[in-house]
Amino acid sequence: MPTTVVWFRQDLRIADNPALLEAAERGEVVPVYVVEDTDAGAWVPGGAGRWWRGESLRDLDCALQKLGSRLIVLEGPAADALERVADATGATGVVWNRRYDPDAVCRDRDLKSRLRQRGLEVWSCNGSLLFEPWQIKTLGGDPYKIFTPFARTCLKFSAPRQPLAAPERLRSPKVPSTLTPRSIESLCVHEQWTGGLAETWQPGSLFSINNLADFLEDKVEDYGDNREKPFLDGTSRLSPRLHFGEISPHQVWHATVARCGGAGALDPGTGSEAFLRELLWREFGHHILFHFPHLPTEPLRAPFRRFPWADDKTNRNAWRFGRTGYPIVDAGMRQLRLTGWMHNRVRMITGSFLVKHLLEHWLHGARWFWDNLVDADLASNTLGWQWVAGSGPDAAPYFRIFNPVRQGEKFDPEGHYVRRWVPELGTLPASHIHAPWEAPGDVLARGGVRLGETYPTPIVDHKHARARALDALETIKHSA
Ligand code: FAD
Repeated sequence: MPTTVVWFRQDLRIADNPALLEAAERGEVVPVYVVEDTDAGAWVPGGAGRWWRGESLRDLDCALQKLGSRLIVLEGPAADALERVADATGATGVVWNRRYDPDAVCRDRDLKSRLRQRGLEVWSCNGSLLFEPWQIKTLGGDPYKIFTPFARTCLKFSAPRQPLAAPERLRSPKVPSTLTPRSIESLCVHEQWTGGLAETWQPGSLFSINNLADFLEDKVEDYGDNREKPFLDGTSRLSPRLHFGEISPHQVWHATVARCGGAGALDPGTGSEAFLRELLWREFGHHILFHFPHLPTEPLRAPFRRFPWADDKTNRNAWRFGRTGYPIVDAGMRQLRLTGWMHNRVRMITGSFLVKHLLEHWLHGARWFWDNLVDADLASNTLGWQWVAGSGPDAAPYFRIFNPVRQGEKFDPEGHYVRRWVPELGTLPASHIHAPWEAPGDVLARGGVRLGETYPTPIVDHKHARARALDALETIKHSA
């Protein structure tokens, strides 16, 4: 009976896992995870991502044990680890689910030929995207750069495949102790700063399925109305689960369609349509990253290469730690720091503040998010930051500069979100909570707020910052 190594990466689940299922149908299975935190290039998992990964791997190992196998964790580089495990177990094949980020694409291509030269059968499957990035094309055969026609083409393409069942049982060979696998426990991060993450999240496949079921039961109907309200828990919070592949987009897609009236789930104006559209944004991010692999560090719009970015560490730190003096910005940055997640609208507001009000390069923001988000994902994070900076595909024009006070008033009108994350402003009335520096002295005194002491004064003036950003844009506008 042939033995196959299954290389788990961002597909930490047993259900709807094409690589695992194909290996199980072929014969014996050796499930492997390779730790590559030092040799995977600049975008090695950040702190919050490492915390999630440890918990999720533990969960995957439990699921595999229930099927009669276990996860073997090896130290990278991947090529060496996979060769070692194939040699030690007598495996004749290696399979994995594809990744689409540029480093992984190049590395996997080399790896395939290296393993094949050793006589191994090697193949890969699609376990993480509804559509392969090369399947969705413009009429001219080019990749899309605009979301709306991309989404339209996806919807006209054949429907995403149905999720696959988990294997009922796995047969695995004995793993020789000479392999010296690493303990999963050694990958679990328990430090003081991870306390907020552990309080907020329960990683793992079963929790992902329950998370989706609860969302579909209680929230999807009103998703269209509630998704822009950061003070509500109105979105799915599936992003880290999709990133680590505890749940697949196929499972999410088909469960939503089944729960929301079949084809009617895509009727315009329904909550389910709005939700499925967001899943297509995720696809769009991967499509863009696959076709424009330089985007994690370079703008798509060339003039932005010459943008006169500022470089002020004090301002950057005020932004990072939620001390800018703009309550909605500070609330978002503190939510991120404490829970590893931030509401999408607030990601846009905080991102815009960094690149437009502070004129800091968007990469500073992308890297901070990368280290702090439990859902840090190269495709979505790159798309988000280039959108915010106005330099990416289908981006917000740079000249459209969010006013953080108006954004706060619009999306958090009663100030509940700010009060939750910036408790020192907790007793200010809604009418002043988004611009405490404009509040009369007696209102501040009653709320126990002493600006510059208990809460910062704004680090930049909105009008001045806006004018400065527009001047900076002018310098690159007419250059090719
Ligand atoms: P829901 O509203 O429930 O949406 C369902 C799913 O659709 C999400 O889980 C996610 O997979 C996908 N999705 C939703 N919105 C987007 C979007 N705008 N772009 C791509 N996919 C989307 N998302 C990440 O997963 N990882 C990141 O590193 C990331 N960085 C971002 C950085 C910036 C500056 C911005 C503006 C957005 C970023 N996003 C990122 C997109 C978005 O903010 C999150 O996907 C969303 O907030 C996750 O919450 P949710 O699961 O409740 O989303």
